[in-house]
Amino acid sequence: MAKKKASDFRYNTGDTKVPWAAVGENYNADDLMSIVEFLMQGSGEEYDKALAEVREKVYALSDISAPPAKLSLDTKVAQAEEAVDAFLGTEGSAFVPNCTEGFEIAYKYANIGPGDEVIVPAITFIATMAYPLSVGAKLVFCDVDPRTLNMDPTDLERKITDKTRMIVPVDIGGYPCDLDPIMEIARKHDILVLEDGAHALGATYKGRKIGTIADFTGFSLHEVKNITSYGEGGILSTTVDAFRPVMKRCRFFGTTFEKKINNWLYDVELIQGKYKPFMALNASVTEIQAIGLMNQLERIDKIIAERTRVAEYLNERLSVCDAVIPQLLGDEQTRPSFHLYQLQIDPAKAGGDVQVLKQKLTEKGVTTIPHFGPLYHFEVIAKNPDYDVEAIAASCPNTEEVFNHRFTHLPCYGLSEEQLVYMADAILESIDEMQKGI
Ligand SMILES: *Cc1c(COP(=O)(O)O)cnc(C)c1O
Repeated sequence: MAKKKASDFRYNTGDTKVPWAAVGENYNADDLMSIVEFLMQGSGEEYDKALAEVREKVYALSDISAPPAKLSLDTKVAQAEEAVDAFLGTEGSAFVPNCTEGFEIAYKYANIGPGDEVIVPAITFIATMAYPLSVGAKLVFCDVDPRTLNMDPTDLERKITDKTRMIVPVDIGGYPCDLDPIMEIARKHDILVLEDGAHALGATYKGRKIGTIADFTGFSLHEVKNITSYGEGGILSTTVDAFRPVMKRCRFFGTTFEKKINNWLYDVELIQGKYKPFMALNASVTEIQAIGLMNQLERIDKIIAERTRVAEYLNERLSVCDAVIPQLLGDEQTRPSFHLYQLQIDPAKAGGDVQVLKQKLTEKGVTTIPHFGPLYHFEVIAKNPDYDVEAIAASCPNTEEVFNHRFTHLPCYGLSEEQLVYMADAILESIDEMQKGI
């Protein structure tokens, strides 16, 4: 049995004869084999034989090894966070169970509550705005730049009121939002910016990494994102100096071991937000998730390079068709992470709108992703008496136009060359059919 560390209250007895370790159950060889079988699935004689050999070796290993001292929030998590900071050029970034919980910490720092307004782009995923909705704050929808689908700074300026407490731009598909004007507007009005960088880990904006510019940036490590920590995970980075030293404490109720109260191992404090203190909840991550994050973070540059290659290939292939509005590829200074490839058309030139194109692509077996759209149509907002959906839609004309008529998203990673070529062919064929009225 491995020694538990003296520093952590869950295993606080150190080198004692009767360790606290007995409290939690450890992994054994069978547990590990279940994971091996899950991560490396297969069937057939050859597979069964290889698996049996691995099982035998794992059992032998388990006889001569000890389990880790801790499974949650320990040295691997700390190392993963150091790796993230080194990659982003940040300090004090927190590894959290998912991006949404990272947002929650930032929203709590901003003391978001009833009566406050939070400006979000009309096109995103519900996670961007779930916390303000859940606490009864008012969402204000900002129209998008039709080219990038990201928050339009001009409309942002129009939508600021004296109740605005936070601006939450999103880097849709991994294309960086226009942060300079957004930050300028926010600074002018003393409003915090929480960037939803769920798609944008590794992207840069004007030579600066996403994660180093906004007051807070959340990244997602969910299984569909550019890298993952075994299916779920998130990163929260901050540039708020006053909050950085306590941000990680928001992951565990605001406990502090530096200050102890009488007869106790720790104290629990409220965390100071921008306007008033708040109570933190539990957003702990496991050591195994941390290992997953570190391994994949080492590969991220290669992953983005491959995604970029696919985006360039698709742009090149689709350039023969003037109905296609090419995906922006960025430049030396602004580099998207290409989480998704944005396929956009000019309906007038294509002989129909994107709904027709999506139908044709589906018939040809090409998956499109109908995922990001004007979220005020969802029941949680549309049936809420605080919102007037028609008025919101009227205030977001670009959003309605691009969503209904112009864009969809395509996968740009993990495809074989054959699938990639087929996808490009299918798009060109489909538009050709639309133009001919077939
Ligand atoms: C995936 C996603 C999130 C949420 O990420 P989780 O890690 O699943 O919480 C937030 N915003 C956008 C735009 C996303 O696509």
